Amino acid sequence: MASKTLQLPCGLETDGRIERTAEIGKLKGKVQRDIARIANKKNADMYHVIEAILKPSVQTIGSEPASGTILGALLLADRDFLLFEIVKHSRGPIVTLRADCPKCDEAGEYPGYDLDDLPITHIEDGDALWWDGQNVHSAVDVSKMGPEERVGLKYRVFRIADEELGVTAVFRYPTGRHQQGISKMGDNEIEALWKLMSTTMLQWKDPEIEVETAPKGGVKMTFWDEVDMEILDWAQLTYAEAMPGVDSKVELECPSCEHEFDSVMRPTDFLFRGRRKEKVNS
Ligand SMILES: [Zn+2]
Repeated sequence: MASKTLQLPCGLETDGRIERTAEIGKLKGKVQRDIARIANKKNADMYHVIEAILKPSVQTIGSEPASGTILGALLLADRDFLLFEIVKHSRGPIVTLRADCPKCDEAGEYPGYDLDDLPITHIEDGDALWWDGQNVHSAVDVSKMGPEERVGLKYRVFRIADEELGVTAVFRYPTGRHQQGISKMGDNEIEALWKLMSTTMLQWKDPEIEVETAPKGGVKMTFWDEVDMEILDWAQLTYAEAMPGVDSKVELECPSCEHEFDSVMRPTDFLFRGRRKEKVNS
């Protein structure tokens, strides 16, 4: 079997332990048919496309078969990482990027890009913060703890803080289930980020608002309506920067007008398109 074993950059939290091993297989043609069918549906969304790729390929996480529940509990960062790994395993790491120039509208092609070059941020075992349902525990290394010490540690979290603004906040890292929650929001990226931030928020303190412990993890999206715009701007940026996983932002230079711009790669862009063209070129 052409399967490959990987180490996840973040890992799955189960009972205060972290499972980092994942096994993936090569994609078969059927996934192409499945994705085409999803794309033709009226309420098609990226979440279903991602699931259609992860489910047939990811075989195990830790020692467990990768069920839908397990895939949903994986952090967004690991799901993203797995998508890139599945693309690389199924069709090789060298891809052609495609991006329209924001200045002259030229549909640029950037062949020969190596997906192995994408930087990946890990959550290391020793420097993680854990949430027990009410409080944050600092620098907990669960790999060095016995099962009894780990009881009550729910999941890993991160803190953002700014002294000048007077804000501190704690969020959990978003999972596949949080991703599902924003999948219907289509192209409204700001709302999607708001929603992700509100559903993963655990604590918030600014000069006017305090959330001691968000009930069941998460607040309503309307929470942001009352937050100072300056604070919200900062929080959005800092939250996005705190996300671990694959950094899929690339800098490109338009071949027509030499304008330099950033483009974000999505692993799903490289599954089917462009293969034939690359062969002609080589
Ligand atoms: Zn251009």
